[in-house]
Amino acid sequence: MAVQKNAYTPYSRFPVGAAILSVSGKIFSGCNIENASFGLTICAERCAVATAVAAGERQWKAIAIASRSGVTPCGACRQVLVEFGMDFEVLLVDSESEQITARWKISELLPGAFELEP
Ligand SMILES: [Zn+2]
Repeated sequence: MAVQKNAYTPYSRFPVGAAILSVSGKIFSGCNIENASFGLTICAERCAVATAVAAGERQWKAIAIASRSGVTPCGACRQVLVEFGMDFEVLLVDSESEQITARWKISELLPGAFELEP
């Protein structure tokens, strides 16, 4: 995934790319952006969410996440993702082999997600 190459990861050297496919067929990408104050680091998934939402896209078919070995989204990202639906797919991609290593519905990754009626 091309956006993975743009990740800013001087501390972990673990670049991650994410791409959201919206129901309208558009793709919104993101990469992780680390910070010397580690708690301010932004994961690739949340970067992609911000890009999609800023473009007015809140309904998604899928998100693909590319990293070495195809790691799963962290807990914070899972919660941010379910804010925009429980039914889209999450595909994990091993960026070295470029193979999908796992796919789930987001609801499977965060059962019992915190919800608050707007
Ligand atoms: Zn995360």
